[in-house]
Amino acid sequence: MNMFPEVLNLYGDRGNIICLQKRCVWRGIKANIFEYNLGAGQEILKSADIILLGGASDREQSIVYSHLINLKGLIKSLIEDGIVVLAICGGYQLLGEAYIDASGRAIKGLHLLDFITKAEGKRLIGNIIIETSLDVFPKTVVGYENHGGRTYHDYQPFGKVLKGHGNNGKDGFEGLIYKNVIGTYLHGPLLPKNPHIADFMIKKALERKYNLDSLEFQKLDDTLEYLAHNRVKELYM
Ligand code: GLN
Repeated sequence: MNMFPEVLNLYGDRGNIICLQKRCVWRGIKANIFEYNLGAGQEILKSADIILLGGASDREQSIVYSHLINLKGLIKSLIEDGIVVLAICGGYQLLGEAYIDASGRAIKGLHLLDFITKAEGKRLIGNIIIETSLDVFPKTVVGYENHGGRTYHDYQPFGKVLKGHGNNGKDGFEGLIYKNVIGTYLHGPLLPKNPHIADFMIKKALERKYNLDSLEFQKLDDTLEYLAHNRVKELYM
């Protein structure tokens, strides 16, 4: 389920959904993409297996918040039930209590998780490489970040920063993991160059959908994907 794709789509975050769909289809798994737009109601969201909240500018974040807040209770219960969520940059910040912009104005978040984001000083921009805390191989995740906000939290981080800034440019951590929610500053789009993260999400979604303890599924030929992944490491690490 791609939430408000016309607004939450900085740096091609929609590419993540296309990547997930392709990787399902290549394995013979049917996968439909739904775009959640204004007035779509709650029922459609209840049937989702994966939710994408893409990045957005400060202005877009506050617009989307005013619509997402009506879905807060439902999204919270879906998260507690283990739905897979990928929340990127502005979408990640929306999961927290608030984003305080550079002028000190508070842009409300959904407060699904207990953290706050504050814009401080220069924007954190550039290529980023992290070592993820998820049980995947390889451990590295590559991407691109561009955010003014600094996020501070006590949850499990998505990873340790090897190159770049991450959550706040200070504590060396990037993103957040809560149940099957991945919050991250990594655009890219993230998933095409990190197929191990895409597959992690698909597996978790299938395990939840079919009530499975664990699932082994077909490996794909990711030669090209890892050529791109490794090239980023060669260039920037
Ligand atoms: N508005 C947020 C910030 O600058 C998020 C930007 C983004 O999604 N790239 O921190």
